[in-house]
Amino acid sequence: MLRYPIGASGDVIHFEPAVLDHFARYRQLRFWHREAGGQLFARIDGQCIVVSEATGPGPNDKRGRTFFEPDRTGEQDEIDAMFARKLHYIGDWHTHPERSPTPSGRDHATMSSRVRLSRHRLGGFVFVIVGQLPPPDGLTVVVHDGTSGHVLPPAGVDLPGDPA
Ligand SMILES: [Zn+2]
Repeated sequence: MLRYPIGASGDVIHFEPAVLDHFARYRQLRFWHREAGGQLFARIDGQCIVVSEATGPGPNDKRGRTFFEPDRTGEQDEIDAMFARKLHYIGDWHTHPERSPTPSGRDHATMSSRVRLSRHRLGGFVFVIVGQLPPPDGLTVVVHDGTSGHVLPPAGVDLPGDPA
């Protein structure tokens, strides 16, 4: 599993293979592919934050080659339904038509405004940008504390069969 330690906190973000598969389906590999995105939900087990569900894109999202504006209607219902399954809303994901994506100015503004919505003890909002390259090079993971965002370096890709 891909692991992203959050600084020196001891918390580590893991991505389940199903979530990485979901991201892979929406990579913008052709010029006509539009940005996609949605919400991220995780099981929290001690210091392991295991991202288990990635939702979206939805039929009413506004999508272009270099923009993605999700339809926020129903987002809170999705958060409540996942919470009933002990899955915590931890942040959002979206794609970029870049090999190794970097957050745009608008992404920084979105992250700042979304931090208050993340209801978990991480004290930050997780923002994943899916680029064209396979992970880890094409996956950018940012934790935003409401003031600034920090890109998390991956801790390495586990061999198949390694424990999470
Ligand atoms: Zn973006």
